[in-house]
Amino acid sequence: MLEDKNPQRTSLEKLGEFGLIDHLTKNFEIKHKSTLKGIGDDAAVFDHKQQTVLTTDFLIEGVHFDLSYMPLKHLGYKAVMVNLSDVYAMNAKATQITVSLAVSNRFPLEALEELYAGIALASKVYNVDLIGGDTTTSTSGMLISITAVGEAKKEEITYRSGAKPNDLLVVSGDLGAAYMGLQVLEREKEVFKVNPNNQPDLSPYSYIVERQLKPEARKDIAELLKQLDVLPTAMIDISDGLSSEILHLCKNSKVGCNLFEEKIPLDPTVITTCEEFNIDSTMVALSGGEDYELLFTIAQNDFDKIKGNPNLTVIGHMTEPSEGAHLVTRANTKIELTAQGWNSFKSND
Ligand SMILES: [Mg+2]
Repeated sequence: MLEDKNPQRTSLEKLGEFGLIDHLTKNFEIKHKSTLKGIGDDAAVFDHKQQTVLTTDFLIEGVHFDLSYMPLKHLGYKAVMVNLSDVYAMNAKATQITVSLAVSNRFPLEALEELYAGIALASKVYNVDLIGGDTTTSTSGMLISITAVGEAKKEEITYRSGAKPNDLLVVSGDLGAAYMGLQVLEREKEVFKVNPNNQPDLSPYSYIVERQLKPEARKDIAELLKQLDVLPTAMIDISDGLSSEILHLCKNSKVGCNLFEEKIPLDPTVITTCEEFNIDSTMVALSGGEDYELLFTIAQNDFDKIKGNPNLTVIGHMTEPSEGAHLVTRANTKIELTAQGWNSFKSND
């Protein structure tokens, strides 16, 4: 579908491992004072005056991404976003990343340059330093592992464990778009397999396809909350779907929750695409995943500070643990929330 039209193919063997890292990282600039040594020694050195947070993620071809519709530049960008999202979910500022890559020899140098162009763009937009990593050979496919480092004041770090009964449950942005974008891309891939001359018209789906291929981590929300003088009592990012993230907050904070179906924020494109695919949009928001929005709880006293903000939606409230975690439907019935994983959801549709 998105074939690389670039005719130039330079074999990776020509450069060797060290030449490859130097080549791919030569245009990265160090932006943070806390980065004392980036690439170029046995290890990086950084000096955080505050507490340090660290997170790491693997992305594996065929499991987490499909290169038949995922452009390499977007993949590089998304791989960074997935990690930064976890740093912001701690209410921390992301400062450094490392990128490790294993690739089979089917990838020419030009493909890795595309991937690194995405990593470079993400690093620039989100103001993080690339301080190290590794490249090696894979016998099949591509594997990317990124580690992100951030810093925060001790009293500002937001754990999953701080929610109290009666706290409000708040989400940024809207939900379900990345999952529906994936459904559209998978459908078009099947069409393309049957008729390779059929170029898909994705324009009606541009919002949801972009949410799948080029998600943005919510750096702005952590900054917004600071401006509004709101310190969440607990926070998590939405990578697996709303219901499983709510259950993480409930379990770690030892509270229950009422989530109101009618409050779940959905983009109109998600609603129309769900109708087209005959999928329930609430199910998509609850179980779809990859939205990379922030889900957090705040004290009721802070409600006035966030009220009416277009980036934030109150979707429920926390309860005593004995009440359990429930979805309150539009028909006002209570259904127990379950963490339906990606796979179990997929096999049902
Ligand atoms: Mg997370």
